[in-house]
Amino acid sequence: MFNPRQIIQANAGFLGSGDDFQAAQAVLLGVPMDWTTSFRPGTRLAPHRIREASYGLEEYSFHLKRDLSEVSFFDQGDLILPYGNVHLALEIIEQGVSEILEAGKVPFVMGGEHLITWPIMRALHRHFPELVVLHFDAHADLRDEYLGERESHATVMRRVLELVGPGNVYQFGIRSGTAEEWELASSSLHFYPETVLEPLRQVLPELQGKRVYVTLDIDVVDPAFAPGTGTPEPGGISSREIISVIGMLGTLDVVGFDLVEVSPPYDPTDRTAILAAKILREALLSFVGPRP
Ligand code: MN
Ligand code: MN
Repeated sequence: MFNPRQIIQANAGFLGSGDDFQAAQAVLLGVPMDWTTSFRPGTRLAPHRIREASYGLEEYSFHLKRDLSEVSFFDQGDLILPYGNVHLALEIIEQGVSEILEAGKVPFVMGGEHLITWPIMRALHRHFPELVVLHFDAHADLRDEYLGERESHATVMRRVLELVGPGNVYQFGIRSGTAEEWELASSSLHFYPETVLEPLRQVLPELQGKRVYVTLDIDVVDPAFAPGTGTPEPGGISSREIISVIGMLGTLDVVGFDLVEVSPPYDPTDRTAILAAKILREALLSFVGPRP
């Protein structure tokens, strides 16, 4: 069971969320952490704003021809994290996700900064040692260290790669990084820079039957569609493309999902939060089976 000390608002209520943890197949969890954000902080405010934005959406998806009322999921609220304490925050995140997995449910996590994927992956990897990771991002996030830190949102995929092995990491839409990151990505993992839809279509057959984790940094989408993020990078994909991606991933066995790096202070029109809410709605409809 969850430790209520770590949770505020037992059911903070994303659009269409149920009120029964035990009956839910998927659990939504907010992780309001932005302690290592390098350029512009603010992602700790995203889970709350994404939930608010979700109420502007329909529960029914034209793309997937499904309704959130057909999906059993529970919104667990946000973890309470110690501001500034990276190490302890990562431990609390790992424990929170472990408890969702031990209950046999699929975690859907709203960041927060991208470093939260590291403790999530540690929990996932214990449950699913053969895990494949699909990473959508403008940035490779493959630095070995950043400003002397090995645990940073700029190093998160390097840590994940060390955990699951480079052959189990697929990167899509990357368009920014160092020469070393480019060399590492293009030589050792499944690296598809700039674009997403066509390479994803090509690799879907080899991913069938595997357990898949999806980590989605909102800045993979062009700043024109998603300006509310800490390190916007021009030249990205459209909001329509990322929604298509979520639908295509529905053919896979997705055992966990995170959506990170939405930053409300840089999102005055809420368009990024609204896109994030729509991505989450589509992911719940695409990855979670029908109500039992
Ligand atoms: Mn990024
Ligand atoms: Mn990232």
